[in-house]
Amino acid sequence: MSKFLTELKKFLMKDDYFLESNVKPVGYYNVILQNQEELAEVISDCENYHLEFRYDSDNEEGCTDGSISIYLYTKSLHEDYSWQSVLNYYYRINFEDDERSWGYCECSPSDVGYNPLHRCCGAGCDWYAPAVNVTKVESKGYFKFDGQERDLWKMESEWELESGISKEQLEQQEKERQLQYIDEEIQELLKQKELFLKVK
Ligand SMILES: [Zn+2]
Repeated sequence: MSKFLTELKKFLMKDDYFLESNVKPVGYYNVILQNQEELAEVISDCENYHLEFRYDSDNEEGCTDGSISIYLYTKSLHEDYSWQSVLNYYYRINFEDDERSWGYCECSPSDVGYNPLHRCCGAGCDWYAPAVNVTKVESKGYFKFDGQERDLWKMESEWELESGISKEQLEQQEKERQLQYIDEEIQELLKQKELFLKVK
């Protein structure tokens, strides 16, 4: 078995955070097993690099069972605590489902293959089959703003004008901000005056 599958299985069986989610891993794991050819790139990368898996619970309000991210490192974490050796891409496996509207369940205990635990024969009735959506997320670089902070302020004003706010509104906003600043200064000076009067 490939290192990817071995490590993934270990993770799905042992990771505390994943276990806490109560997501059933068997279906998803087997979808991956069934599609090893299509996942050849992921499998070979996992063979060649050090791995780290991370489970994230669903952030789309319960529409999925969450996802597993696979980070790849050229050095093991024991050799390189700074994690500088991380590759500029990672894989994410989303745990999703495939809705199969095959018919409202009318199974009864007398049917052949009836499963009393699931109260269904498990063949031909409505169900959600496990499915995985695998993506490769690649960084194209870390780009930084070229300029001073005031250059950015100017751009922000221009942006607001372009987005439909009038020049008068913009000036009004600016005025209010300056007034607020002046008020704060006054409060601060009053505080200092009070302190000054207390000292004899
Ligand atoms: Zn059924």
